[in-house]
Amino acid sequence: MPDPVPAQAELEQEVCRTAEQYDAVIVGAGPAGLNAALVLGVSRQRVLLLDGGPPRNARAQEAHGVFTRDGIRPVELKRIGLEQLVPYDVTVRSEPARQVREIGDGFGVQLGTEWVLARRLLLASGIRDLLPRVSGLKERWGRTIHHCPYCDGWPNRRAPLAVLGSHQEGHHLALSLRNWTEHLTLLTDGPDELTEEQRLDLQRLGIALDTRPILRLSGKDTVTVHFHGGETLELEGIFLNPTQDQRSHLPAQRQTAGGQRERHDQPPGRVGGRRYDRCPTVRDERGGQRHGGGGQPQLHPDSRGRARVWRRLPRVTG
Ligand SMILES: Cc1cc2nc3c(=O)[nH]c(=O)nc-3n(C[C@H](O)[C@H](O)[C@H](O)COP(=O)(O)OP(=O)(O)OC[C@H]3O[C@@H](n4cnc5c(N)ncnc54)[C@H](O)[C@@H]3O)c2cc1C
Repeated sequence: MPDPVPAQAELEQEVCRTAEQYDAVIVGAGPAGLNAALVLGVSRQRVLLLDGGPPRNARAQEAHGVFTRDGIRPVELKRIGLEQLVPYDVTVRSEPARQVREIGDGFGVQLGTEWVLARRLLLASGIRDLLPRVSGLKERWGRTIHHCPYCDGWPNRRAPLAVLGSHQEGHHLALSLRNWTEHLTLLTDGPDELTEEQRLDLQRLGIALDTRPILRLSGKDTVTVHFHGGETLELEGIFLNPTQDQRSHLPAQRQTAGGQRERHDQPPGRVGGRRYDRCPTVRDERGGQRHGGGGQPQLHPDSRGRARVWRRLPRVTG
């Protein structure tokens, strides 16, 4: 559970005084977050990438259909993604964002007890797969239990496979998967809810329909389906279409806490970012000059000659 946060005014005062500032904070270092960090990095933006844990496909042995990296291990893909950020002004921290708040004309992001400020916030926190409650299924997820024919169809081509699903989504996935194998069964784990037309589709494509209730799954490199009553079915793999929801609570928090203030109407801003308009009166730590909140941003060239203000964020003086 996120920690309780102080009142907005108190929080803004504290964060503007102490927080490290970035052009963008990216929450999540999966493929989406890594790619966004790369694009923002080459665009000379100062970026913080928060790596809060493994990507969605962490349990998969190989990722397929990934341009130039077909068959790569997901951990290796991530390693390369992180390595290619090194030349740029991208800081990677292995910790989750705990909550986000609108601060000034940007966002405050809490990590642990510390807050950072961002002109833009990118939530690339991914989704979570909610798997059906079949004994032995969760442990085999990403190994012999799959969801995506384009990802795991090729290694299982022509193999005896099943689709698990009793509704329209099971029918749809079975029709898709028929492209990869002719040895296909639709397992409904009890009475199905297919239409007559859907049954005819299955018959036409030679897809077996098996409505026996499933007791459990077993097997290491293959999967055995144990039905109630003691019968079994040997397969190379099972595909299913899990329900999904957001992996992180942050997107919902944004919707309830201030999603109405979206940023699309804002100008893109200057290279290197600009000072938060609503930060309290501040002092330039180099020259002692004071700026009031809401004034024009003070741009200073950094060591690479880029206009930069957030690097030398003025400090609150009392
Ligand atoms: C078993 C399996 C196999 C797959 N195989 C393939 C394949 O072969 N080819 C293919 O193209 N696709 C494959 N996919 C799909 C692929 O995994 C997703 O398309 C991809 O991971 C989506 O990337 P993402 O960056 O949007 O999300 P994710 O990969 O889920 O990354 C989101 C990241 O955000 C992090 N995060 C969440 N909350 C926070 C927070 N508060 N603070 C910081 N970080 C946070 C998460 O820990 C995670 O690392 C597969 C998926 C699964 C489940």
